[in-house]
Amino acid sequence: MLLLNKLTPFLLVFLVVTGYAQQTYQRTLKLMGSRFDITVVANDSVQGKNNIDIAISEITRIEKLISSWDVNSQTSKINKNAGIKPVVVDAELFELIKRAISISKLTDGAFDISYASMDCIWKFDGSMTKMPSADKISVSVAKVGFQNIILDKSKNTVFLKEKGMKIGFGAIGKGYAADKAKALLISKGVTAGIINASGDMNTWGSQPNSKPWKVAITNPMNKNKVFALFPLVNSAVVTSGNYEKFVNLNGKRYTHIIDPRTGYPSSGIISVTVFAPKAELADALATSIFVMGKDVGLNRVNQLPKVECIIIDEKGNISTSKNITIDKI
Ligand code: ADP
Ligand code: MG
Repeated sequence: MLLLNKLTPFLLVFLVVTGYAQQTYQRTLKLMGSRFDITVVANDSVQGKNNIDIAISEITRIEKLISSWDVNSQTSKINKNAGIKPVVVDAELFELIKRAISISKLTDGAFDISYASMDCIWKFDGSMTKMPSADKISVSVAKVGFQNIILDKSKNTVFLKEKGMKIGFGAIGKGYAADKAKALLISKGVTAGIINASGDMNTWGSQPNSKPWKVAITNPMNKNKVFALFPLVNSAVVTSGNYEKFVNLNGKRYTHIIDPRTGYPSSGIISVTVFAPKAELADALATSIFVMGKDVGLNRVNQLPKVECIIIDEKGNISTSKNITIDKI
């Protein structure tokens, strides 16, 4: 016993030293229709595996709640009852929709989860060969409008006022899921990790060698070339610019992001990277900047605390918000 007492300080030192031998464990899989890479720092592979499993079940749970593809989700129920009646939803979904509406207000309607009624007009899977008619577009865009998403906090209901309205979380859901998975792992005592939801990155803690996690930003003009490397300390970075999801019509390239005010896809910008404390906001803002355009987008970001961005236009010009400097590497 005495010996053990004498050894205690040494044991503590030993634990700290072996603690330093922590490793990163990673898994890649498809969730929410996208590639996710989940990285955690753990003492051994069992702990690493368990923690990755926790993150996966959290993301799967969120997918079930918010997916508009899943006919049984609460989101689908809201869409089915558009123009008919309010739908009672979980507080979590209610709050997510409430925050989405706040972002619509912040971006003058550039971000709008009710963009989704345009889904039947624009296809970005390569199946579209000609421009939809202006008539069709104007009929559909009349259904878009966050002002017609009616929330009732006292009953926890969501009501889409117009028949044919539809909401979708394509531009915010992955960021939200990344934030939730991160928060859950932190609450379970996981000291460090990265949730990467197809380019929506969210980090906490640091690498086992105590250095901060770093993210590489690639230039969409040359995907193999990293043009900037940023340390990411307990925050999120999201790159929106889906080089696969676009359509070429009449010699013009359109992205899969719709301008809710016109019903036409945005063009001109090919990549937006947003840094923010939370992935949800970064995700939503990255999408919004495509619609707002470079000047309005930069202006808006420059007014938001702790938010920065990098915009690349179709000519390859790079613009940054005021607190970002890119050291060429
Ligand atoms: P990705 O994650 O595919 O790189 P984004 O995060 O920018 O891209 O989200 C794009 C998706 O957001 C679209 O596929 C669509 O589901 C949805 N979306 C399109 N336009 C808007 C908009 N104006 N506001 C909100 N969501 C939109
Ligand atoms: Mg987005």
